[in-house]
Amino acid sequence: MNQHPRPEPVAFIDLAAQRRRLGKSVDDAVSRVLAHCQFINGPEVTQLEAALADFSGAKHVVTCASGTDALLMVLMAKGVGRGDAVLCPSFTFCATGEAVALTGATPVLVDVDEATFNMDVNSLKRGIATARKYGLTPRAVIPVDLFGQSADHDAIGAVAETEGMFVLDDAAQAFGASYRGRRLGTFGLVTATSFFPAKPLGCFGDGGAIFTDDAKLAETLRSIRVHGQGSDKYDNVRLGLTGRLDTIQAAVLIEKLKIFEDEIAARNAVADRYARGLGNVVTVPHVASGCTSIWAQYTIRLPRGTDRDGFAAALKAQGIPTAIYYPRPIHQQTAYRDFPVADGGLPVSEKLSEDVISLPMHAYLDEATQDRVIKAVRGVLSA
Ligand SMILES: *Cc1c(COP(=O)(O)O)cnc(C)c1O
Repeated sequence: MNQHPRPEPVAFIDLAAQRRRLGKSVDDAVSRVLAHCQFINGPEVTQLEAALADFSGAKHVVTCASGTDALLMVLMAKGVGRGDAVLCPSFTFCATGEAVALTGATPVLVDVDEATFNMDVNSLKRGIATARKYGLTPRAVIPVDLFGQSADHDAIGAVAETEGMFVLDDAAQAFGASYRGRRLGTFGLVTATSFFPAKPLGCFGDGGAIFTDDAKLAETLRSIRVHGQGSDKYDNVRLGLTGRLDTIQAAVLIEKLKIFEDEIAARNAVADRYARGLGNVVTVPHVASGCTSIWAQYTIRLPRGTDRDGFAAALKAQGIPTAIYYPRPIHQQTAYRDFPVADGGLPVSEKLSEDVISLPMHAYLDEATQDRVIKAVRGVLSA
């Protein structure tokens, strides 16, 4: 009998490799917090906010407890609520629409572009008309920079301006990416991101941040972050949350931000190599002109007629994990199916949810492992 050794499993996202690289620097950073004991609003929080402002080019950065809180806090600060419509793509993680619905406003779901997976501006325009038809006031649009690639911010911003809406960029997957030469965090009124461990810039728990050039909005967000605090702790001028980022997470992020540029370059090298190795057998991701991606996911589309579950199982048998982002667009989820969708429906979101699949992607995927993934994908598809 042939004895095939079980192939060493590939990591979908290798947090352990990054942990090894960070080594003592992150241990020391956490130890400093353990020594000073300012677990809430310690000096690292302010330091991180300054470093993130510097990195992104945004004037004000307000860190917070998660990417979902980042979205929610902005909508709360802007007084978005019942009777308002907020336009969101349907092909995204549910948190985008969830934050809207939690305020009492109505998420109106719009379609995405088939090449970039990001918000389709024509569907956005139809969605605004749909919102009005429902008697809702279109207040905001939340473009998502899906899988790490910036959305078409100029086109979306122009529509928002014409319609008197503000733009809240959901850059939870794409902090570090740029659009027309400028880093995300500087488009629209305000940008939200997440530091969930698996995001390109992740901490060792939950975390998030909000970026804006609007000083007044930043001040309101700082108040919402601590229960709507006014001039002192027991003066509550508005509703808020326990929305802070822990000092320990800030300390971790300060260290991770130091290697982030290098990791972005490494992710791009992996993506380039995948594209060269796979471009003629599957639809590889398209990065639109003027945009960059930091490859939160490397999401391919399988040829028509491929059995996706079978494809995933065959790769898994070779130790190669895959994931499906997203098997169902938001408008087909139980909690969201009663919310309006843009006129004309969302055929692209529905089609993508049936044929996308994401391959292992992280900054520590060496060339030999990339080749293993490429060879396995090619092999399964030609079998
Ligand atoms: C991860 C994610 C969020 C939410 O971030 P959390 O930190 O997990 O709350 C929001 N939007 C998108 C597009 C995401 O991918």
